[in-house]
Amino acid sequence: MIRTDDKSLCCGCGACVGVCAVQAITMQTDAMGFRYASVAEDICIGCGRCEQVCAFQKAILRSDSLSAEQPAAYAVRSRDPEALRRSTSGAAGYHLMDAFAAAGGVVYGARFDGPFLVRHERAETRADIGPLRTTKYTQSETDGVFARVQADLDAGRPVLFTGTPCQTAALAASVSGRDRLLLADVLCHGVSAPAVWRACLEDASRRYGVPVASAAFRDPVGRWSETVSSVLFADGTRRTFRHWARLYQKNLMLRPACARCPYASLHRPADVTLGDCWGIGKVRPDWAADDLGASLLLVHTAAGKAWAERLQADWECVPVPLNAVMQPSMTAPVRPGEQADAFARDFLAHGYAFVRRRYAARSLRERWRLLKWNVKRFLKRIGLWR
Ligand SMILES: Cc1cc2nc3c(=O)[nH]c(=O)nc-3n(C[C@H](O)[C@H](O)[C@H](O)COP(=O)(O)OP(=O)(O)OC[C@H]3O[C@@H](n4cnc5c(N)ncnc54)[C@H](O)[C@@H]3O)c2cc1C
Ligand code: SF4
Ligand code: SF4
Ligand code: SF4
Repeated sequence: MIRTDDKSLCCGCGACVGVCAVQAITMQTDAMGFRYASVAEDICIGCGRCEQVCAFQKAILRSDSLSAEQPAAYAVRSRDPEALRRSTSGAAGYHLMDAFAAAGGVVYGARFDGPFLVRHERAETRADIGPLRTTKYTQSETDGVFARVQADLDAGRPVLFTGTPCQTAALAASVSGRDRLLLADVLCHGVSAPAVWRACLEDASRRYGVPVASAAFRDPVGRWSETVSSVLFADGTRRTFRHWARLYQKNLMLRPACARCPYASLHRPADVTLGDCWGIGKVRPDWAADDLGASLLLVHTAAGKAWAERLQADWECVPVPLNAVMQPSMTAPVRPGEQADAFARDFLAHGYAFVRRRYAARSLRERWRLLKWNVKRFLKRIGLWR
């Protein structure tokens, strides 16, 4: 039977729920909005199927080996200005999903279901794929999704599944027909607490006196290198804010499992990995200067390579040395912020407005570093800094 005594051993993928023949497992939501597998021991018949399917616990507890090959790395930018504008980074994710569906495949990815909730959904057309683009930094629910993927695979359909590495690993462990399944994961800093996102939007609604119609964790309309969230109110007004992103970047509200993530490495259970190409200035200074965004594409398998080559007409793809684009999520799991426990206590006791004021304000040191960074970037843009 899977272990449920330690929250850091469950990434919330839900794979175990789908394999339990006696429905002994349900997903329970905690106060931070994270979902965890829970076993009704009086119903469990001890068959061990949940333990077999739990890729996350296997990878942590038994150090299951992943591919040891170094992936090929590319900086990618869409040739279509509109696609670039509407995606989080360089629109690599969008073009992969769009081309896969256009070739007759089925795509699964994360989309908003209302402003608060993120869910994995199935898409076959360009219109369905639109909402899957852009990064949602909270956990995406996958209830029933693995069974739908299996049904598509059984029907002979090629499937592209995009998600966090723990979701793609869970899916790979749950379904048969891997030869028809293409897996695209993201470089993953960790998922944030869904309850904090909801409370953040409710706080905005209270402050401005209008209900929230939709929102974005990281608004693609603006400078790519700056993480700015946005909210669209029911009266049509739009506001941007940075406090939620600061809480995320300070690692104050991440899922406990993220601190033990076995996929924070270059070796992934996926065909390709998508990320932000933060080292872009070292290989394409012009892309860094215009700040429109660039995706990082890591190619792990022959199937991934074939798709990357197929998309040359849609995107510009520049090989990059791995050491120029390395970032923390490729080397080690994220470390929770020193104030993470205090943040959770304060959030649960006093709500979002309180933690926004107490934890999202920048310290003098952070303000100084930001000022230096902005000056350097400005000087680079006008050609006075190389
Ligand atoms: C929780 C999370 C943490 C991340 N951390 C990092 C990081 O530390 N470093 C880094 O370089 N990049 C990180 N990324 C990835 C990055 O923000 C972009 O997704 C990536 O740059 C691709 O951008 P794009 O323009 O190519 O794709 P887009 O066209 O914007 O497509 C985004 C893709 O991500 C998938 N996706 C979005 N939200 C979720 C979600 N909540 N759960 C599962 N799948 C989702 C969508 O299905 C879609 O396929 C993270 C993404 C997520 C979801
Ligand atoms: S990680 Fe996934 S499979 Fe494992 S216990 Fe949690 S929900 Fe179940
Ligand atoms: S051991 Fe078998 S019966 Fe018990 S919870 Fe796991 S899958 Fe269900
Ligand atoms: S950091 Fe690891 S455990 Fe956390 S959401 Fe990302 S892949 Fe899953």
